[in-house]
Amino acid sequence: MKKEDTRSEGVTSRLSGFHKLPVGERLGTVSRMFKLSGDDTEAMAGGLGLTTDLANTMIENAIGVFTLPLGLGLNLLVNGRDYVVPMVVEEPSVIAAVSFAARIAREGGGFIAEADDPIMIGQVQVTGYGDATEASNKLLAHKEQLLALANSFHPTLVARGGGARDVEVRVLPAPEGPRGEPLLVLHLLIDTQEAMGANLINTMAEGIAPLVEQVTGGKVYLRILSNLSDRRLARSMVRIPVTSLADFDMSGEAIAEGIVQASRFAVADPYRAATHNKGIMNGIDAMAIAAGQDWRAIEAGAHAFASRDGQYRPLSTWTLEEAHLVGRIELPLALGTVGGPIKIHPQVQAALKLLRTTSARELSMVMASVGLAQNFAAVRALGSVGIQKGHMAMHARCVAVTAGARGHWIEQVTNALVKTGQVKVEKAKEILANLMRDAATEAG
Ligand code: NDP
Repeated sequence: MKKEDTRSEGVTSRLSGFHKLPVGERLGTVSRMFKLSGDDTEAMAGGLGLTTDLANTMIENAIGVFTLPLGLGLNLLVNGRDYVVPMVVEEPSVIAAVSFAARIAREGGGFIAEADDPIMIGQVQVTGYGDATEASNKLLAHKEQLLALANSFHPTLVARGGGARDVEVRVLPAPEGPRGEPLLVLHLLIDTQEAMGANLINTMAEGIAPLVEQVTGGKVYLRILSNLSDRRLARSMVRIPVTSLADFDMSGEAIAEGIVQASRFAVADPYRAATHNKGIMNGIDAMAIAAGQDWRAIEAGAHAFASRDGQYRPLSTWTLEEAHLVGRIELPLALGTVGGPIKIHPQVQAALKLLRTTSARELSMVMASVGLAQNFAAVRALGSVGIQKGHMAMHARCVAVTAGARGHWIEQVTNALVKTGQVKVEKAKEILANLMRDAATEAG
């Protein structure tokens, strides 16, 4: 059977007016553009999603499946390539914001991204080793044996060009004070190729434990990957001409200044940095879920990395450079194109076809760019007119539905709610009741 070509030319993420199309037409547009099969198209729509039987193979005590909205982030240009980004998210305005930001960014050439090799860390905790320096030296002297033993547990990974690469030993102060035994932690650095790697790292870390005990004369306790995957960073950068930022009756300079101030605030204050990073993760998590990634691992890695200098900091910064606003993001992204639910979940499979990425590294470059775009949209609004104006318009739709509006009433109640400036369920109920009463009076 001929392999489906999902990297076909003619794909663009610049789909003007897409948001105004009915849902079915949106799906038809992407299905045609990506030459999706009928099954993939139906999977996208949710018709051929995860079955209870499949769910039962994935987790324990399964009783069903749980669904969330799937939408598309548009306009994203990364390293000169167009990406349509599948995003699973329940929060209104996330997808509109990322698409809007990516549209502005592409006017300046889009995002320039890069990513490290897929090096992950497996940790082995050693106790009862005697002298810490002596034990460390012994472990380092046995590096080649440790690496060979680790690789013997995953010959197929080695055959693919990956495998254990290096050994590092860390001695950490005892948490209970100088009377306690310092922590001796061996790090096994492993190239996990296309896998996120948790399972294969854990296998290797457990596999070398007996040799670590033999070499140090100590006892090994924990043997597991670290989610602070700081050898596997992804970076993205965007340069936006200040003049193209003008909006809300404000000059580009004024908007840029607001964004730079937002960045300074986040660098200085962890209370702000937490919210700044939450905005970044709005995009990253939504893409991670659609692409079948372990988003708890991504979250854990991102926040630990944000605290690496002892204070919790923003994952992205914004500066003014030669009449351009320049945004930069750097964070660990341990992603996979194999493993976990990736080859099992039909919607993940279809989502990966839309993404057209050929490797976990490329996926991480796109994801970092999505995070930076999401952040740009947030700081642009926050540093100028505030976030509520845009957010409330979209939130109003959810409020209208919560208040009981269905079908054509949703649009009418949403518009009326925005006009009143009171986006509240009680207000929406009142508006809906009035509209329905007026309609009944007219009809009768
Ligand atoms: P899997 O063990 O599911 O799959 C990885 C396997 O895929 C490899 O061992 C390899 O097996 C195979 N494979 C096929 N092609 C390739 C390739 N090109 N490159 C690399 N491997 C390839 O997944 P991971 O080891 O990635 O673990 C991820 C899962 O672990 C996620 O579901 C995560 O939620 C979970 N997890 C996470 C933890 C954490 O983050 N703290 C802890 C524990 C689990 P073979 O060589 O045999 O073909």
